[in-house]
Amino acid sequence: MKANNKTSVLFFPAFDWAISPNHPEREERLLYTRDQIFEEGLMDIEGIIEYPPEICNLEDIIKTHICVTEPEDILTESHLISAGSCKAIADSVLKGEVDKGIALVRPPGHHAMLVTHGSRGFCNINIEAVMVEYIRDNYDVKKIAIIDTDAHHADGTQDIYINDPDVLHISVHQDGRTIFPGTGFPNDLGGPGGFAHTLNIPVPTNTTDEGLLYIMDNLIDPVLKDFEPDLIINAAGQDNHFTDPLTMMNITAGGYAELTKRLDPDIVVLEGGYSIEGALPYVNVGIILALAGLDYSNVREPKLDQLDMKSSPKIMDQIKDYVNHLSEVYNLRKDINLDEYFGSKDSYKKNRSIFYDTSGLLEKQREEFLKCDKCSGVRIVESSVYGRNDIISIIVPRNACEACQNKADNLTDDYVTLIEKYDYVYIQDHSRRNYSRFPEYKF
Ligand SMILES: [Zn+2]
Ligand SMILES: [Zn+2]
Repeated sequence: MKANNKTSVLFFPAFDWAISPNHPEREERLLYTRDQIFEEGLMDIEGIIEYPPEICNLEDIIKTHICVTEPEDILTESHLISAGSCKAIADSVLKGEVDKGIALVRPPGHHAMLVTHGSRGFCNINIEAVMVEYIRDNYDVKKIAIIDTDAHHADGTQDIYINDPDVLHISVHQDGRTIFPGTGFPNDLGGPGGFAHTLNIPVPTNTTDEGLLYIMDNLIDPVLKDFEPDLIINAAGQDNHFTDPLTMMNITAGGYAELTKRLDPDIVVLEGGYSIEGALPYVNVGIILALAGLDYSNVREPKLDQLDMKSSPKIMDQIKDYVNHLSEVYNLRKDINLDEYFGSKDSYKKNRSIFYDTSGLLEKQREEFLKCDKCSGVRIVESSVYGRNDIISIIVPRNACEACQNKADNLTDDYVTLIEKYDYVYIQDHSRRNYSRFPEYKF
């Protein structure tokens, strides 16, 4: 047998890292998966090639995150390898060594936001975003689509790319009224610089393959055809599976494989998925076969006979409502008066609280998006965790116009005043590739 698409596969189970010994995001997550993939003979197929894990460096992290106060406070070596391995898979695809790649790594990353004070939803740093920033700096890739099919809203990825018109982020997840992190509703459409490049589809509990594939065909596919990304990344969380202990969804391994076939991503990254024996081994076999362009119809998972594969009409009606609404918003995005969403002032401000369930921290943020007609505009984030680490960060977009660059320079030139008010001042200037902090980073 020979793969129709040459496919790179990378395993990093992070055996020496866990939040706690019995935590669902634990070392065994990839053990059974790896065994199953080898037992099924996938790694013997010509054109399916194993790549070794790689480590990324702290510069990769500060291009992506404002780590409070230092990257080393937020992450461990396992996190650097999880993100570095995503970079390695990206290299294998973008250098043309393979057609497709999959990073089966942990710890996961999609709940890690732009500013990070610690661990949320088992995530410390955003592994897809670290990879995306690396790709944009090193390859001729401008427009990227991140399709997140984990059962939890990809609130971290959304936050990092909320104002970025070159990154389309679509998150399909179990309705936030029934699960962590409680966000990701259809009215959440991104910032003024990237309006409708953030799309959220919260699906009802017990949604089956039918619902997921309906969203794929009727929303994701037409939006991708319009956006025309240079690269499609699937953040393939597998906790939508009907046996997952943390969620209430009814997706099967066959459904994931079919989604992979229809989405046709360039790169797949594992996110969540906690049914260690019942789901992950079969889902990943299905995804790898689909990526390689091979038949996956013989992938059989346990307990499938106990599942009602049909979504109830009520569930399908809800999904169709969201799909219709979001299709309309996306199609009309250039004609919509954005003042209705962001007000008529020169900047759009929002305040919010972010709970770090794993680290037990409550962060308060005040955020301001400076509006601009020529570029996506400067973003300013003030953040504090009760009693410590009052910070401000100034984010300059890759596409910054001269006026916005000057605005940011004026703000940062005055860091002496800023540093009287804040403990740390961070600059994340993507346009000039200047990633710095006052006082300076220690690493
Ligand atoms: Zn998840
Ligand atoms: Zn501008």
